[in-house]
Amino acid sequence: MLDPEITRQDDLRSGRSPWLAGPPRPEGESVEADLRCDVVIVGGGITGALVAEHLTGLGRQVVLVDREREGFGSTAASTAMLQWEIDKPLAKLTEFYGFEKAADVYRRSFRAVEGLRALAVELGIGAGFLPRDSVYLAAGNVDLAQLRAESALREKAGLPGTVLDHAGLLVHFGLDREGAIVSAGSAEADPLSLCHNLLSVSMRRGARLVRDEAVSFSGEGNAALIQLAGGRTIEAGHAVLATGYVMPDCVTSALHRVASSWAIATLPQKPQALWPGPALVWEASEDYVYCRTTRDGRIVIGGEDEEDDDPESREALQPEKAQALLKKLGALLPRAELTLGHSWSGAFGQTSDGLPLIGRVPGHPRLLAAYGYGGNGITFSFLASRLLGALIHGQERDWFSHFAIDRPDPT
Ligand SMILES: Cc1cc2nc3c(=O)[nH]c(=O)nc-3n(C[C@H](O)[C@H](O)[C@H](O)COP(=O)(O)OP(=O)(O)OC[C@H]3O[C@@H](n4cnc5c(N)ncnc54)[C@H](O)[C@@H]3O)c2cc1C
Repeated sequence: MLDPEITRQDDLRSGRSPWLAGPPRPEGESVEADLRCDVVIVGGGITGALVAEHLTGLGRQVVLVDREREGFGSTAASTAMLQWEIDKPLAKLTEFYGFEKAADVYRRSFRAVEGLRALAVELGIGAGFLPRDSVYLAAGNVDLAQLRAESALREKAGLPGTVLDHAGLLVHFGLDREGAIVSAGSAEADPLSLCHNLLSVSMRRGARLVRDEAVSFSGEGNAALIQLAGGRTIEAGHAVLATGYVMPDCVTSALHRVASSWAIATLPQKPQALWPGPALVWEASEDYVYCRTTRDGRIVIGGEDEEDDDPESREALQPEKAQALLKKLGALLPRAELTLGHSWSGAFGQTSDGLPLIGRVPGHPRLLAAYGYGGNGITFSFLASRLLGALIHGQERDWFSHFAIDRPDPT
């Protein structure tokens, strides 16, 4: 498991994703005195940025602390497929929690992507944010019959989707698989620009961006207290921990583990090589491969996950994993040009039920945490911003417990 004291952004991510060549980034300040504010957020990746935007929009005084460059942790490694479909199929989540709760989680995930889209439009954030269909392919031991059953369950939950058989999939997407569920309601973005644009909006509304390391966290008394390595203290009504896959010791969960994942982007393809209606494509198997396109016509493909979270082993495996992903792309889409443009990898946090950890840190009523795991990381970051915003406003809802940090492992 990643050690929060020594793990740095270079351990979370290596190689170069297409998002790194962007416009100027927001600059953090160092603080010379203790600070007080309504909410202090620790971590300036996409999760902290979404929480900061939401809270400043509600008129809260926010201080955001990051020990390195905001967005350059896991966020810069993300392939940013903004999906409402969760890593665990609805059928599996139903086995864990029963249909009503599983369907509720799926609908909330659907609405989170919708909410992200509405936010991007409202704030005029470009960041490559585009609505996309998703194509969920039969793979491994998931056949067309199982996809039909999953689709029927989704329909019962009020979610969109149509099943395509082999012929339909070939005609519409040029993909040679037994079948797929094609659904509306997902999106794609440039995750780093999205993060930085949200931070810029928050700063224009008065949020302070502090460059320092939070070294101790307390939320037991009347206020949350964050001690900084630079010697200063931030006192706030609430603290939100959004430190990505490096969780402070006060946050523990029986469900989570950190693995490694790899991704590549090809050079821009000829338009006829791409599947029409540039949907997000992913496989219905445990160790799935997933792909999307970029605005300049590249194909991004990721997967090849390994249990090992050691940064050096991950980097050493990069050339081999890049070749494996190119080979998988060739098998999936024979007309694609298998040219390597970018290759990168990252730590990848997952939970055994596929759901994020969001809510109060047990034993610390004023410490809140937002850890969005798995392939829906960014969708769950949006959900976290809304859930935590409500908690800070003193609102409680039954459904918050779906994501509780101390929920038992259902597997
Ligand atoms: C290869 C790969 C592909 C992925 N693909 C997708 C995808 O297609 N769709 C999707 O939704 N998600 C995807 N994800 C997951 C997604 O990237 C993450 O869920 C998301 O980026 C997490 O953002 P975050 O803000 O929580 O963490 P981070 O971006 O890591 O930000 C955490 C920040 O906290 C700071 N920090 C940590 N500790 C401290 C401290 N003590 N004091 C001060 N600052 C601190 C760090 O410097 C960092 O900037 C992918 C991840 C990987 C690695």
